[in-house]
Amino acid sequence: MANDKASDTPNEKQDKLDVLKSTQTVVKKALDKLGYPDEVFDLLKEPVRMMTVRIPVRMDDDSIKIFTGYRAQHNDAVGPTKGGVRFHPHVSEKEVKALSIWMSLKAGIVDLPYGGGKGGIICDPREMSFRELEGLSRGYVRAISQIVGPTKDIPAPDVFTNPQIMAWMMDEYSRIDEFNNPGFITGKPIVLGGSHGRESATAKGVTICIDEAIKKKGITLKDASVVIQGFGNAGSFLAKFLHDSGAKVVGISDAYGGLYDPDGLDIDYLLDRRDSFGTVTKLFNNTITNEELLELDCDILVPAAVANQITEENAHSINASIVVEAANGPTTLEATKILSERGILLVPDVLASAGGVTVSYFEWVQNNQGYYWSEEEIEEKLHKVMVKGFNQVYQTAETRRVDMRLASYMVGVRKMAEAARFRGWI
Ligand code: GLU
Repeated sequence: MANDKASDTPNEKQDKLDVLKSTQTVVKKALDKLGYPDEVFDLLKEPVRMMTVRIPVRMDDDSIKIFTGYRAQHNDAVGPTKGGVRFHPHVSEKEVKALSIWMSLKAGIVDLPYGGGKGGIICDPREMSFRELEGLSRGYVRAISQIVGPTKDIPAPDVFTNPQIMAWMMDEYSRIDEFNNPGFITGKPIVLGGSHGRESATAKGVTICIDEAIKKKGITLKDASVVIQGFGNAGSFLAKFLHDSGAKVVGISDAYGGLYDPDGLDIDYLLDRRDSFGTVTKLFNNTITNEELLELDCDILVPAAVANQITEENAHSINASIVVEAANGPTTLEATKILSERGILLVPDVLASAGGVTVSYFEWVQNNQGYYWSEEEIEEKLHKVMVKGFNQVYQTAETRRVDMRLASYMVGVRKMAEAARFRGWI
């Protein structure tokens, strides 16, 4: 099938990889489909609040390094804003803005009383010591403390941040606030008010979406072959859950390459050997590239790494019948169109990865009420929420004859627009 990539100017190419622009494009389409006037898009196309901070950290060699961080609050019409903080060298203002819009959409799809927020710090935690990371985490909280809080904006883990970092951040906020405040942040260690099931929640949510998606395609998990790009929090838990359910995980990858075995990989061995940043392929010689991994023959492909992995360049070569986006923004809009035309069922990021924020919500509720639920209770609640979200998006796609991405935006944006209207903002 012909496409226009050969004739794209460098600017056009860049635009197609601009996650903020492509998010705005779909938000606009969704609002148009729902019949909202232009001013609603004008309000929702950017975060209502965006803070840039500079964070000085004393490094182990006694030098001072200044880091740049961001916190974006997309829209607080529905409730306080909510979303993770990522530590990564590629963090940018644009990406944080787009990620905050996606958080609003996730909250809308799974019907949480939140708007979307997101934070990020430009840094490489793989090259920082434990103490340096502590200094950076505490410094970030001090810098954004005026605009966050348990009823304003509630951070959480994201790429390369974890329960330990949440614990430092919660401790720093509690010092500033002068009382113990676990509801300030989610994804904490259990002993500090964390929730059962939070660490594996994103992967659990993806698994529930896979269960629903395979029903639509008449596949059973026991006969399914799966390829997972990324072996971080989402990818590694997901590989384990799918492997334990009898699916054949034939490919996995990390930032350095991929592993492939048509008979199924030994997932328990790989989990045992991975480091805390999800790196494992360095231990092997016979690796494949991430590009090759995405094109492997399989039933279910799960991009669980970074943005812009499936583009118009490789969308025609994807050999899966279902693509489930566990990462944020792994498929460009052009690729979404190609996959949909090819009859591949795409479960979009704002739906598939909403399990994390859902259990974060449960954690916040438990912190607020001071009464804690069991792992089984959390799992049951998560299951109900995800199945409902999936079916709402799927039915919207069917009845409105739109692709799954547009359908998920239509479901996700509606509550926010209604709330803003009731408040008299638009
Ligand atoms: N960072 C996760 C996400 O992108 C979780 C956010 C949260 O738990 O608030 O969905």
